[in-house]
Amino acid sequence: MWRRAGPIRLRLAEIAGRRVRRPLGPPAPTETFSASAPASSSLHHSLGTFRDSIGAPPSRSLSTGGGGRECWSCGAKGAFLSCGSCRSVQPVDPAVDYFRIFGLDRGYNIKDNSLEGKYKDWQKKLHPDLVHSKSEKERAFAAEQSARVIDAYRTLSKPLPRALYMLELEGVHVDEEKTINDPGLLMEMMDIREAVSEACDSQTLEKIQSQMKRKLETWSKSFEEAFNKGDFNRAVEATQRMRYYERAMEETVKKL
Ligand SMILES: [Zn+2]
Repeated sequence: MWRRAGPIRLRLAEIAGRRVRRPLGPPAPTETFSASAPASSSLHHSLGTFRDSIGAPPSRSLSTGGGGRECWSCGAKGAFLSCGSCRSVQPVDPAVDYFRIFGLDRGYNIKDNSLEGKYKDWQKKLHPDLVHSKSEKERAFAAEQSARVIDAYRTLSKPLPRALYMLELEGVHVDEEKTINDPGLLMEMMDIREAVSEACDSQTLEKIQSQMKRKLETWSKSFEEAFNKGDFNRAVEATQRMRYYERAMEETVKKL
């Protein structure tokens, strides 16, 4: 058994280290509304996307209050994304974090259905067809805001990118290439990979997927507990473990 440890570790490092790049341009709407869709459609935009999508600078205060800025067009207070009074599209305000875009307090636990309605709402307001008659300046604001809303949705709708985003907001750096030196985990991942490569029907692969999903849920809970206690070391480790299961999920998706 142990003679196999070398190559396994190498393979796992490859799995853990591989990054997913974001496709160019915004996704088609069907790709974006994937919160309730099967895992396969939402797996392509994990960490590479997340890295590209961090909008707010780190170390902001936890307060999600504050009323936004003054509308550039009518001067109304509390305008963000689009003005409540005159409906002018506002420039991106980096102080508005992803949670606030969705009207949520900053917190890891997000109910499944709390993002999609607001997401569609914003995309309607910012859609190029609806702002085509506006000034060039405002159309540019709309394009930027729309891209940011998409990033926010992708980041918050999945457990791992959401966890990483929360750490980023706290100014905690996560080394995405770091592998975990835990023989138990390595053996487990080896078994999973073997099971995936031997699986020859979709039922078996789906079964593996739901196992991975449960693992992700377990480590999500660990993340949340550690994060809420301010134990960022444990929180970071939980995200690193989650990444292994995400990668394993991707392997099954490739085969399906
Ligand atoms: Zn206004």
